Amino acid sequence: MSSTRKRVLVTGGAGFLGSHLCERLVAAGNDVLCVDNYFTGRKDNVAPLLSCPQFEALRHDVCFPLYVEVDEIYNLACPASPIHYQHDPVQTTKTSVSGAINMLGLAKRLRAKIFQASTSEVYGDPSVHPQTEEYRGNVNPIGPRACYDEGKRCAETLFFDYYRQHRLRIRVARIFNTYGPRMHPNDGRVVSNFIVQALKGEAITIYGDGEQTRAFCYVDDLIEGFIRLMAAPDEVTGPINLGNPVETTVGELARMVIALVGSRSKLEHRPLPVDDPVQRCPDIARARDILGWQPRVPLETGLKNTIQYFDRLLTEDKALAAVKA
Ligand code: NAD
Ligand code: UDP
Repeated sequence: MSSTRKRVLVTGGAGFLGSHLCERLVAAGNDVLCVDNYFTGRKDNVAPLLSCPQFEALRHDVCFPLYVEVDEIYNLACPASPIHYQHDPVQTTKTSVSGAINMLGLAKRLRAKIFQASTSEVYGDPSVHPQTEEYRGNVNPIGPRACYDEGKRCAETLFFDYYRQHRLRIRVARIFNTYGPRMHPNDGRVVSNFIVQALKGEAITIYGDGEQTRAFCYVDDLIEGFIRLMAAPDEVTGPINLGNPVETTVGELARMVIALVGSRSKLEHRPLPVDDPVQRCPDIARARDILGWQPRVPLETGLKNTIQYFDRLLTEDKALAAVKA
């Protein structure tokens, strides 16, 4: 066994980000244990890894204690898209809070290093722009997004209390909107929705006037940020923003997707969801200075890769439906 080979646990490992992370960790020569309850994750996402002896998948809900032996833990388990996390809000909070307690307890017993996938949602609908890590946020604690936002905020609190109280080695990343292949086609997130709608020639659903902004990071860039943060010296606990600082309006994104797909889809305006943040863009000065990290993949390139992925997925679905008919 090489000295750099580690046993790494990835919770939520069959999800969009988790599956890319597992792939990256296996490629680097680590033993990877993927834990997932398959609420939003899919076995297909990790299917290519199953033939690899370094990779193992375990069905488990992080709301329950887990007894395994590992050196590092990446805690990603939690539905991330508004329609998924609002489907069973109580379970969403439990996943963030009980999941964090269980994984921190595991890390404490093993003296393992532990990473938390936190979110830009801890800033809520921000009144500071772009968002720095010092900004304490503007979250509505009783709104429909609160199960996710407050669950993630509480998880951050737990991470820092375990750090202070038990001297655990923690890493907290605040992830901003990320997109790429293996996003769930029905998760309602803006990039997957627009691409699927454009490929099917359906109307592109713009919520509100489309002037709200997000900053979209390609998945490969984000995973590089995870790896660098985990490898950083132990005094680097975070929280640290990871995201692409190039801000785009939802309307601009729609026009870009239509052009790249070559679609004839029309734009259709729908009501803006409750508590939908007006502006969101990360200040990544900390990640640049401390990790030497910044996104490299331009939006157009990332969208082209993602369009290719969904195009293949939709073609496979059609072929499957034709076989079943
Ligand atoms: P995803 O929904 O694709 O992945 C989440 C995974 O967690 C899924 O595989 C799901 O089945 C699993 N899961 C959910 N509840 C679980 C439970 N109780 N026990 C075990 N597994 C459970 O979402 P994603 O985009 O890959 O997000 C991964 C993490 O990153 C999440 O914690 C999310 O909050 C965070 N994040 C993502 C983004 C983004 O833009 N993708 C932005 C901010 C934060
Ligand atoms: N959005 C949209 N049309 C869609 C899906 C989302 O206009 O079909 C908007 C949504 O209201 C929000 C932005 O796109 O302003 C990003 O939404 P997403 O759910 O992807 O992420 P989040 O709101 O969590 O940042």
